[in-house]
Amino acid sequence: MSDALAQRVRVEVEGTVQGVGFRPFIYRLARELGLAGWVQNTRNGVLIEAEGGVPVVEMFLQRMRTDAPLSASVETMSTTVVPVLDDAGFSINQSAGSGQRVLVIPPDLATCADCQRELADPYDRRFRYPFLTCTQCGPRYSLLTAIPYERSNTTMAGFTLCSTCDAEYGAEIDRRFHAEPIACPTCGPSLYLWNGQGHEVADGEEALQRAVSLLEQGLVLAVKGLGGFQLWVDARSQEAVQRLRNRKQRPDKPFALLFPSIEAVRSYCLLSSEEEALLRSPQAPIVLARKRRDASLADAVAPANPYLGVMLPTTPLHHLLMASLQRPMVATSGNRSEEPIVTDEWEAPARLNGIADAFLVHDRPIARPVDDSVVLVVEGRTAENHDRGVVSKPRPEVMIVRRARGYVPQAIRWGDDLPDGMQSPILAVGGHLKNTIALLTGNRVVLSQHLGDLSTVEADKAFRQAIEDLQRLLKVAPQVIACDLHPDYRSTSFARELAAGLSVPLVPVQHHHAHVASCMAEYKLEGEVLGVAWDGAGHGGDGQVWGGEFLIASYQQFTRFASLKPFRLLGGEAAMKEPGRSAAAVLWELMGENMPEHDLTSWGVTHGQRVRWGSLLRSGVASPWTTSMGRLFDAVASFTGLCHQASFEGQAAMAVQFAAEQEWEACGRAEGYPMDLVSCQNPDTKWLMDWRSMVSAMLEDLHRGHRLEQIAARFHAGLAAATVRVAQAAGLPRVVLTGGCFQNRLLLRLVRRHLEEAGFTVYCHTLVPPNDGGLSLGQAVVAANQLMTGKEGRA
Ligand SMILES: [Zn+2]
Ligand SMILES: [Zn+2]
Ligand SMILES: [Zn+2]
Repeated sequence: MSDALAQRVRVEVEGTVQGVGFRPFIYRLARELGLAGWVQNTRNGVLIEAEGGVPVVEMFLQRMRTDAPLSASVETMSTTVVPVLDDAGFSINQSAGSGQRVLVIPPDLATCADCQRELADPYDRRFRYPFLTCTQCGPRYSLLTAIPYERSNTTMAGFTLCSTCDAEYGAEIDRRFHAEPIACPTCGPSLYLWNGQGHEVADGEEALQRAVSLLEQGLVLAVKGLGGFQLWVDARSQEAVQRLRNRKQRPDKPFALLFPSIEAVRSYCLLSSEEEALLRSPQAPIVLARKRRDASLADAVAPANPYLGVMLPTTPLHHLLMASLQRPMVATSGNRSEEPIVTDEWEAPARLNGIADAFLVHDRPIARPVDDSVVLVVEGRTAENHDRGVVSKPRPEVMIVRRARGYVPQAIRWGDDLPDGMQSPILAVGGHLKNTIALLTGNRVVLSQHLGDLSTVEADKAFRQAIEDLQRLLKVAPQVIACDLHPDYRSTSFARELAAGLSVPLVPVQHHHAHVASCMAEYKLEGEVLGVAWDGAGHGGDGQVWGGEFLIASYQQFTRFASLKPFRLLGGEAAMKEPGRSAAAVLWELMGENMPEHDLTSWGVTHGQRVRWGSLLRSGVASPWTTSMGRLFDAVASFTGLCHQASFEGQAAMAVQFAAEQEWEACGRAEGYPMDLVSCQNPDTKWLMDWRSMVSAMLEDLHRGHRLEQIAARFHAGLAAATVRVAQAAGLPRVVLTGGCFQNRLLLRLVRRHLEEAGFTVYCHTLVPPNDGGLSLGQAVVAANQLMTGKEGRA
């Protein structure tokens, strides 16, 4: 092949390209094109050398991009031309064995089309086998016990491959070549049905059939899934769903639904093509989609909610169950409220005692809890042609609100390649709610799966395990610990102990600074931006509870450019559950001592209560000042009568959002309530967004009997318009939108549109959640940058 037109290229591919059939794909492609060379795994991905005629090599490079396996995710690909070697044939080299660490851990992926076909094929040896997988699908992260990713380092280590499976595993062109968790009915895990006390009553196919029949009778079944238990119940039976709600003590928070097919989802939801693509993707998350008005579901599935969290079967076991059931099923996390999901079948009967009527379990151990991910599709950026007066339609974007199965532990690159040793590994421990942790090494940050709220002993245990786990998997020992500024978070006290124990620096990061930095890191933004960080609560460091913030921020530092005008967090924590308290506190700022006498039918707060709250507000006892946007939404929910009691975080704000969305759908517009931007005496904050004129106008509308939907919509529009004025005062061209409030798609869309129309470039989260699930990323990059600056400073 040594003619003048031959060429040899060396291609370095980084990303999630191990354990996803990428090497066999390259092998088959190179053989098909008649190229010589080899492919092998490296520390961060895959290295290829390929040699052949120039046009064929070109075609090879092109098809590498276009034809790569769906489950592979290429982050970077760099090609260099190297001297022609004239070797023969193409081979897969076994791992380099250079002793380098392999940092790539593949995520768990939904059953692929080929495996689904085998599952339904009576002539296939894996017909109806609940644990079939291949290189394109199946559990990975959830069963990994160590790296590198190979079978002996997974929870499948105890299942010795039979000769047929072994032959598939070893055949370079087989779909199961080096598919670590493969199994078959001869050599793999088995299925069992246990009764409520945890005693086995059936196994194999019989277990499956009896499980289906229990569900058809309306019972609650705990199903051991991929990354933990789920609780299943018939979503069309009001009685059954209500029973699950009562047992879980979860009165209102929506349940996710599992559907047998995309057609079935379509008959209950209005799906956009993007939402459909997400449901069918290898990540197969729960997608929050709009419910059809005529959907015949139990109201208890998602009370007073126009959206449904929907998903498709993700494992062979789910496919088998749903193929028999052929109806929407509630499939919610198998836990007690506030606790992490149960992963061990031997613990399940005790931990889910009184909740589940029976247990469908198997003997493939789960290495770590991995919940279902939750995403939604939002309106993204309008095309860049603004200057030329061409306004094209906004592109849809994905927002992840719970990042777990399918997405974790894919790394996020936050900066350019750093020289080795430039960056000490950093552990960031996240916040208190929706906790995740993160490990930063070099320019990569790996976030843990969603760990949940750290308010229970079980959750605290899971949090500590996750920290050990991630360090062990990535083989890094942190030399810096980053945490929230809040001194009383469990995560913060843990970080303090750990840093002291290891004698390494502790870097506390202000909550909203971490939110802003997290979004900046997603886009690798350098320099200063205006960060709009709106959420329920974050420690301000000045004795106040922040939450309606406009920060001028870089990674290293921030100043508080503006915030909401403060009001009292009446009774502290109690205000989260009773929106009426925020309404009273807001009214107190408006009319002081006249608050208790203010009578408003829709408010639903008695005179006696108003008097009691008045005396608390007068003294300020147990009622710190807050600038929380979440609580301002609560106040609106309470005045309008949309929500009097919140049983889960964000419930009241969601009620306001849904009402406003209804108005927007009907009218397409709303005139925003006035919000004043007033300069502030406080040297630390330049401006206050004063909501008093807004509240006055709203109360007038309520007295006049205006529609609640219209009032809610005017509130949203007022916030968007006021944000533009703050951005204009700040004068920075780039604006970052972050914090839990921006899970509200209407708010996000309005604020984004208004800012874009005023000429700002707007950035929103697409890789990590805007809520506290994204905090750990922000903490890690802030700590990294502060340390680098410190190093330079000392140099
Ligand atoms: Zn497969
Ligand atoms: Zn086998
Ligand atoms: Zn937050």
